Amino acid sequence: MTRDPQAQPRPAVFFDRDGVVNVSPGPGYVLSWEAFQISPGLFDLLRDVHRQGWLAIIVTSQKGVGKNLMTQADLDEIHANLQSTLRNGIGSGFDGIYAYTGTPDCPHRPKPDPEMILTAAREWNIDVKRSWLIGDADRDIEMAVSAGIEHTIRVRGDNPIGFPATHTVDSLAEALAILTRHWSVDGKAPD
Ligand SMILES: [Mg+2]
Repeated sequence: MTRDPQAQPRPAVFFDRDGVVNVSPGPGYVLSWEAFQISPGLFDLLRDVHRQGWLAIIVTSQKGVGKNLMTQADLDEIHANLQSTLRNGIGSGFDGIYAYTGTPDCPHRPKPDPEMILTAAREWNIDVKRSWLIGDADRDIEMAVSAGIEHTIRVRGDNPIGFPATHTVDSLAEALAILTRHWSVDGKAPD
Protein backbone atom coordinates (compact mmCIF):
# COMPACT_ATOMS: atom_id res chain seq x y z
CA MET A 1 0.00 0.00 0.00
CA THR A 2 1.33 3.42 -0.90
CA ARG A 3 0.11 6.92 -0.20
CA ASP A 4 -0.36 8.59 -3.57
CA PRO A 5 -2.25 11.88 -3.37
CA GLN A 6 -2.71 11.85 -7.15
CA ALA A 7 -4.47 8.50 -7.16
CA GLN A 8 -8.24 8.09 -7.19
CA PRO A 9 -9.69 8.10 -3.67
CA ARG A 10 -10.14 4.56 -2.39
CA PRO A 11 -12.71 3.27 0.08
CA ALA A 12 -11.63 1.91 3.43
CA VAL A 13 -12.99 -0.33 6.09
CA PHE A 14 -12.58 1.45 9.42
CA PHE A 15 -12.18 -0.94 12.35
CA ASP A 16 -12.83 -0.24 15.98
CA ARG A 17 -10.18 -2.18 17.92
CA ASP A 18 -11.37 -3.70 21.21
CA GLY A 19 -14.32 -6.02 20.53
CA VAL A 20 -13.65 -6.07 16.77
CA VAL A 21 -9.96 -6.52 15.90
CA ASN A 22 -9.32 -8.19 19.26
CA VAL A 23 -11.52 -9.82 21.85
CA SER A 24 -13.03 -7.18 24.14
CA PRO A 25 -11.25 -6.80 27.49
CA GLY A 26 -14.60 -5.89 29.07
CA PRO A 27 -14.68 -2.63 31.02
CA GLY A 28 -10.87 -2.54 31.38
CA TYR A 29 -7.97 -2.02 28.99
CA VAL A 30 -5.61 -4.29 27.10
CA LEU A 31 -2.34 -3.29 28.75
CA SER A 32 0.08 -5.65 27.03
CA TRP A 33 0.52 -7.79 23.91
CA GLU A 34 0.20 -10.90 26.11
CA ALA A 35 -3.37 -9.81 26.92
CA PHE A 36 -4.23 -9.01 23.28
CA GLN A 37 -6.34 -11.76 21.70
CA ILE A 38 -6.88 -11.38 17.94
CA SER A 39 -10.53 -11.96 17.05
CA PRO A 40 -11.42 -15.11 15.10
CA GLY A 41 -11.90 -14.27 11.43
CA LEU A 42 -9.70 -11.16 11.41
CA PHE A 43 -7.07 -12.63 9.08
CA ASP A 44 -9.63 -13.58 6.40
CA LEU A 45 -11.43 -10.25 6.70
CA LEU A 46 -8.30 -8.11 6.43
CA ARG A 47 -6.90 -10.21 3.58
CA ASP A 48 -10.10 -9.78 1.56
CA VAL A 49 -10.32 -6.02 2.26
CA HIS A 50 -6.85 -5.64 0.78
CA ARG A 51 -7.58 -8.00 -2.13
CA GLN A 52 -10.48 -5.73 -2.95
CA GLY A 53 -8.06 -2.82 -3.18
CA TRP A 54 -9.57 -1.13 -0.14
CA LEU A 55 -7.70 0.30 2.82
CA ALA A 56 -8.01 -0.99 6.39
CA ILE A 57 -7.75 1.58 9.17
CA ILE A 58 -8.08 1.16 12.95
CA VAL A 59 -9.78 4.00 14.85
CA THR A 60 -9.60 3.30 18.57
CA SER A 61 -9.97 4.84 22.01
CA GLN A 62 -7.12 3.83 24.34
CA LYS A 63 -7.66 5.99 27.37
CA GLY A 64 -5.56 3.64 29.50
CA VAL A 65 -2.66 5.81 28.32
CA GLY A 66 -4.26 9.05 29.53
CA LYS A 67 -5.10 7.36 32.84
CA ASN A 68 -1.44 6.32 33.29
CA LEU A 69 -2.35 2.62 33.30
CA MET A 70 0.02 2.15 30.36
CA THR A 71 2.45 4.29 28.38
CA GLN A 72 2.30 5.39 24.78
CA ALA A 73 5.28 3.05 24.23
CA ASP A 74 3.23 0.12 25.61
CA LEU A 75 0.43 0.96 23.18
CA ASP A 76 2.85 1.31 20.27
CA GLU A 77 4.39 -2.05 21.13
CA ILE A 78 1.00 -3.77 21.12
CA HIS A 79 0.26 -2.28 17.70
CA ALA A 80 3.71 -3.18 16.33
CA ASN A 81 3.15 -6.78 17.44
CA LEU A 82 -0.32 -6.80 15.88
CA GLN A 83 1.07 -5.52 12.58
CA SER A 84 3.92 -8.03 12.45
CA THR A 85 1.58 -10.89 13.35
CA LEU A 86 -0.74 -9.89 10.51
CA ARG A 87 2.11 -9.45 8.03
CA ASN A 88 3.47 -12.88 8.94
CA GLY A 89 0.01 -14.42 8.65
CA ILE A 90 -1.48 -12.82 5.54
CA GLY A 91 1.20 -10.56 4.10
CA SER A 92 -0.27 -7.22 5.18
CA GLY A 93 -1.26 -5.35 8.30
CA PHE A 94 -3.54 -2.37 8.84
CA ASP A 95 -2.71 0.63 6.67
CA GLY A 96 -3.15 3.06 9.55
CA ILE A 97 -3.86 2.99 13.28
CA TYR A 98 -5.36 6.09 14.89
CA ALA A 99 -5.76 6.13 18.67
CA TYR A 100 -7.35 8.67 20.98
CA THR A 101 -5.44 8.28 24.24
CA GLY A 102 -6.83 11.08 26.39
CA THR A 103 -3.40 12.60 27.07
CA PRO A 104 -3.13 16.42 26.92
CA ASP A 105 -0.91 16.20 23.82
CA CYS A 106 -3.03 13.61 21.98
CA PRO A 107 -3.67 14.98 18.46
CA HIS A 108 -6.99 13.15 18.20
CA ARG A 109 -10.53 13.74 19.38
CA PRO A 110 -12.62 11.24 21.36
CA LYS A 111 -15.40 9.23 19.69
CA PRO A 112 -18.06 9.93 18.55
CA ASP A 113 -16.24 12.96 17.14
CA PRO A 114 -15.46 11.94 13.53
CA GLU A 115 -11.99 13.55 13.64
CA MET A 116 -9.98 10.29 13.48
CA ILE A 117 -11.89 9.10 10.41
CA LEU A 118 -11.62 12.49 8.72
CA THR A 119 -7.89 12.75 9.50
CA ALA A 120 -7.29 9.26 8.09
CA ALA A 121 -9.38 10.13 5.04
CA ARG A 122 -7.19 13.14 4.36
CA GLU A 123 -3.92 11.30 4.97
CA TRP A 124 -4.85 8.24 2.91
CA ASN A 125 -7.04 9.83 0.23
CA ILE A 126 -10.05 7.78 1.30
CA ASP A 127 -13.46 7.84 -0.36
CA VAL A 128 -15.46 8.19 2.88
CA LYS A 129 -18.89 7.87 1.30
CA ARG A 130 -18.07 4.41 -0.07
CA SER A 131 -16.30 3.32 3.10
CA TRP A 132 -17.58 1.05 5.85
CA LEU A 133 -17.05 0.93 9.59
CA ILE A 134 -17.11 -2.12 11.86
CA GLY A 135 -17.61 -1.39 15.55
CA ASP A 136 -19.15 -2.80 18.69
CA ALA A 137 -20.36 0.35 20.48
CA ASP A 138 -22.82 3.16 19.81
CA ARG A 139 -20.00 5.72 19.73
CA ASP A 140 -18.34 3.82 16.85
CA ILE A 141 -21.48 3.90 14.74
CA GLU A 142 -22.21 7.54 15.62
CA MET A 143 -18.65 8.51 14.69
CA ALA A 144 -19.04 6.82 11.30
CA VAL A 145 -22.37 8.50 10.58
CA SER A 146 -20.94 11.89 11.60
CA ALA A 147 -18.04 11.35 9.19
CA GLY A 148 -20.43 10.61 6.31
CA ILE A 149 -20.07 6.82 6.23
CA GLU A 150 -23.29 5.15 5.11
CA HIS A 151 -22.49 1.49 5.76
CA THR A 152 -21.90 0.34 9.31
CA ILE A 153 -21.61 -3.11 10.85
CA ARG A 154 -22.07 -3.67 14.57
CA VAL A 155 -20.45 -6.71 16.09
CA ARG A 156 -22.76 -7.66 18.93
CA GLY A 157 -20.95 -7.79 22.28
CA ASP A 158 -21.15 -6.46 25.79
CA ASN A 159 -22.38 -3.01 24.80
CA PRO A 160 -26.05 -2.00 24.84
CA ILE A 161 -27.44 -0.96 21.45
CA GLY A 162 -28.85 2.57 21.35
CA PHE A 163 -27.67 3.77 17.95
CA PRO A 164 -28.49 1.35 15.15
CA ALA A 165 -25.97 0.25 12.53
CA THR A 166 -27.00 -0.72 9.01
CA HIS A 167 -25.96 -4.34 9.73
CA THR A 168 -25.59 -6.30 12.96
CA VAL A 169 -23.53 -9.49 13.19
CA ASP A 170 -22.16 -11.93 15.75
CA SER A 171 -18.78 -12.59 14.13
CA LEU A 172 -16.19 -11.18 11.75
CA ALA A 173 -16.99 -14.07 9.37
CA GLU A 174 -20.53 -12.69 9.10
CA ALA A 175 -19.16 -9.19 8.56
CA LEU A 176 -16.97 -10.50 5.74
CA ALA A 177 -19.96 -12.24 4.13
CA ILE A 178 -21.83 -8.90 4.10
CA LEU A 179 -18.85 -7.07 2.59
CA THR A 180 -18.34 -9.80 0.00
CA ARG A 181 -21.97 -9.47 -1.10
CA HIS A 182 -21.53 -5.70 -1.30
CA TRP A 183 -18.33 -5.99 -3.33
CA SER A 184 -20.02 -8.32 -5.81
CA VAL A 185 -22.46 -5.54 -6.76
CA ASP A 186 -20.62 -2.31 -5.97
CA GLY A 187 -16.96 -1.98 -5.16
CA LYS A 188 -15.23 -3.53 -8.15
CA ALA A 189 -11.51 -3.94 -7.56
CA PRO A 190 -9.40 -1.30 -9.29
CA ASP A 191 -7.49 -2.32 -12.45
MG1 LIG B 1 -14.95 -1.50 20.94
